Amino acid sequence: MGMDMEMAAKEKKREKETLRMELESRSENEEFARVAVAMFMSRMDPTMEEMEDVKTAVSEAVTNGVIHGYAGGEGIIYIEVTIEGRELAVVVKDTGAGIPDVKKAMEPMYTTDTTGERSGMGFSFMEAFMDQVEVVSAPGEGTRVTMRKQIGR
Ligand code: ATP
Ligand code: MG
Repeated sequence: MGMDMEMAAKEKKREKETLRMELESRSENEEFARVAVAMFMSRMDPTMEEMEDVKTAVSEAVTNGVIHGYAGGEGIIYIEVTIEGRELAVVVKDTGAGIPDVKKAMEPMYTTDTTGERSGMGFSFMEAFMDQVEVVSAPGEGTRVTMRKQIGR
């Protein structure tokens, strides 16, 4: 069966496909994560804009895990990408510091950073570029960010 037909058949069946990654908490891996997610989602035939939106959201979530979750120390960032029909779901998880007040943390311009380097816009970007963002977190237990987006509406 040719590649085009295979893809068409897959879409018709709405076969669920998942990519799982475990990355060491390092800033270099943020670029790796967003490129890997973009390559995986390319089979959904996204527009350049959709691809850029997802890359930005992934990059913000992974950066948060590295700098806030593990505070620059050691740890593993877990990424799970699922394609189901036209829906893309990306889960970015860390087992680091956690967030005491998720609602507050997600407000635009809220940051706990004191160096002046951060603008507190990470969650706002994720929400702007994805259809849905869900954050589950507790102090000492880490953070799980689930982001969903319909591709090719
Ligand atoms: P920016 O993303 O603009 O560089 P920021 O990271 O501070 O700044 P957000 O990404 O919106 O802004 O996050 C807001 C706040 O939520 C952070 O300052 C931090 O306190 C908390 N936070 C976000 N992600 C995590 C995480 N994975 N673990 C612990 N705390 C987090
Ligand atoms: Mg951030």
